Amino acid sequence: AKRAGGARHVVFERALRERAERRADIESQLRLALAEEQLFVVYQPVVGLNPNGSTDHSAGVEALVRWQHPTRGLVPPFDFIGVAEECGLIDQIGDFVLERACTDFMRWQAVLGLDAPRLMAVNLSRAQLAQPDWTAKVAATLARTRMPPACLQLEVTESLAAQDEHIQLRLHELKALGIKLALDDFGTGYSSLSSLHLLPVDTVKIDRSFVCKADTSHHHRVLIEATVKVAQSLGMNTVAEGIETAAQLDAVRAQHCAKGQGYLFSRPVVSDALVDWIREQRA
Ligand code: C2E
Ligand code: CA
Ligand code: CA
Ligand code: CA
Repeated sequence: AKRAGGARHVVFERALRERAERRADIESQLRLALAEEQLFVVYQPVVGLNPNGSTDHSAGVEALVRWQHPTRGLVPPFDFIGVAEECGLIDQIGDFVLERACTDFMRWQAVLGLDAPRLMAVNLSRAQLAQPDWTAKVAATLARTRMPPACLQLEVTESLAAQDEHIQLRLHELKALGIKLALDDFGTGYSSLSSLHLLPVDTVKIDRSFVCKADTSHHHRVLIEATVKVAQSLGMNTVAEGIETAAQLDAVRAQHCAKGQGYLFSRPVVSDALVDWIREQRA
């Protein structure tokens, strides 16, 4: 047993070392990516689900970062956001995404006029919120790009928003700037419906894991219904994430969810393709 344990120990050490090497590798490549502008931002529409059954295609968009690696191809955020958080590069990536998103948003106002998206959602990570000067940085970016604060929605996960006073303070500072806050991936973390009122958020985004079963599982439908009811009673908006089928859309509409997002409407696309998409919906 001792020998087996020893062998396991060696395997474990090797796995750890390989993981560390992989991380170091991604880290150095990510530094290069920032310097050589391999990162870019795509946008996914967030549509309004009007009570009369119509769809509002200009309700908003969510900005999502992408990495076009010279040899590995398109690297999904899942493969580098975590590393970027650990090595501190997330600040730079976050700054880049925010600046790009605000700039594109303002350009759409000029190009699409009244049909331009009305809200820009940008994801935040814990490390970004931990920067002491972060609120001031956001304010500076808004001023520089002339982005109205009320048109920006910053998205944080449940576990993040529920954390220490420090983070809470930061969220209140952002709210004081007039920025909107959304609770991302709701239902997957540890906070519950009963603690929703403690968080300074305007919008609750119901996680895809609930939405994908909205049409087939009574249990998931009941949870969506309860979330929408509580959110509405607190004056919060709701977004159903990851709608892929018409049946899922019908199901979340039936639960009075205010907005929806998912491949059924559009995959995340580059800025010009988003403009085309909005024009096509209008035609
Ligand atoms: P998220 O904030 O929950 O973003 C939604 C994710 O769901 C996106 O994945 C989007 O492409 C995907 N999605 C949207 N509709 C559907 C659908 O109908 N079906 C399926 N299967 N998926 C759908 P993506 O772009 O790979 O991003 C994954 C996560 O990476 C995001 O989850 C977010 O947590 C993080 N992330 C992305 N961009 C950024 C960023 O700029 N900053 C930070 N801090 N995190 C980011
Ligand atoms: Ca999000
Ligand atoms: Ca989400
Ligand atoms: Ca997520």
